Amino acid sequence: MRPRKPPPADTTTILKHFEEGFLRYLITGGAGFIGSHLAERLLDRGDHVVLLDNLSTGSVENIRHLKSSPRLQYHLDNIENRQLLAELVDDADVIVHLAAAVGVKLIVESPVRTIETNVNGTQRILEAACKKKKLVFTASTSEVYGKNTNVPFREDADLVLGPTTKGRWSYAASKALDEFLALSYWKEKKLPVIVVRLFNTVGPRQTGRYGMVLPNFVKSALENSAITIYGSGKQSRCFCDVRDTIEGLIRLMDTESAVGEVVNLGNTEEITIEDLAHRVKERTASSSAIKYIPYDQAYEPGFEDMMRRVPSIEKLYALTGFRPQTSLNEIIDRVAEHFRQKNLGLADLSRVATANAD
Ligand code: UDP
Repeated sequence: MRPRKPPPADTTTILKHFEEGFLRYLITGGAGFIGSHLAERLLDRGDHVVLLDNLSTGSVENIRHLKSSPRLQYHLDNIENRQLLAELVDDADVIVHLAAAVGVKLIVESPVRTIETNVNGTQRILEAACKKKKLVFTASTSEVYGKNTNVPFREDADLVLGPTTKGRWSYAASKALDEFLALSYWKEKKLPVIVVRLFNTVGPRQTGRYGMVLPNFVKSALENSAITIYGSGKQSRCFCDVRDTIEGLIRLMDTESAVGEVVNLGNTEEITIEDLAHRVKERTASSSAIKYIPYDQAYEPGFEDMMRRVPSIEKLYALTGFRPQTSLNEIIDRVAEHFRQKNLGLADLSRVATANAD
């Protein structure tokens, strides 16, 4: 699928590239879970992709299969490298800013890093892009709705955050500030920006290392080790397959009327975490026990969770004609298959290593 129209940036290069049949995308956080899937799709449709990633939560493994593409370039570096960032932004037609500190565990454990990475990173990108008014597509999060219980969340809903003494909310606050900053660049400096609020996104290549529930549950189920529910398990989430997320992202990036807008992107099939544990166990035919631990033990004393998180995706549909489609059952099967393949791969590698040692 080609972009329907070139994004509205004040530059002639973008028109030239568009006429030549491709665009050049810079993806920050491009070796991450979502970034690597986006890069794959853009390369597939003939675009040029430059990845910038400091591998703080991303991994070279995620992009290994893309490295042979002549249309891919990658830089394992920080956004703080101003010179490099200026050059990469200059060469790009569209900047997709995905680099961020993610995962509730990481956020609770490293709040300074979370705030600095999110706020400073976005500020640098917007500042660099503003020089030639490059389109910036920036990822925010459903976390910004905080403790609002009025689901489904519409983009114009109030953000209800907890006190600053509870570390968890620093993530939502830092991403809300990113949104304000991006929208201010649009309003005040006419920098074209699109803000997308991603709801829980899952799929192959997502690591459970930073606390994400679905890869953790599937991994435990496949190992027949205990599946651990934090809190009562009555809290709910909606899980969106990464392929749907990428489709939504690409359509939004190609939609001129999305510029200056904040748009939710997620699946609307809601499930409690307790039911998710049972569903994962059932679909993987696992004999895992299901156990509960209090939030205090899982995160930190006084941890506050979001009880429900359901997106309204009417705006996404009105702008792009797209709604995420993949069912939760299919998502669980895909994630399980990914872990099985990965384990097989590791087993093969260790066999090769043993054979070589012999
Ligand atoms: N959770 C859980 N067990 C885990 C990891 C997470 O019960 O091993 C819970 C977590 O407390 C939250 C929900 O699952 O209520 C989703 O957590 P995740 O970190 O995936 O994303 P969040 O939606 O909180 O950003």
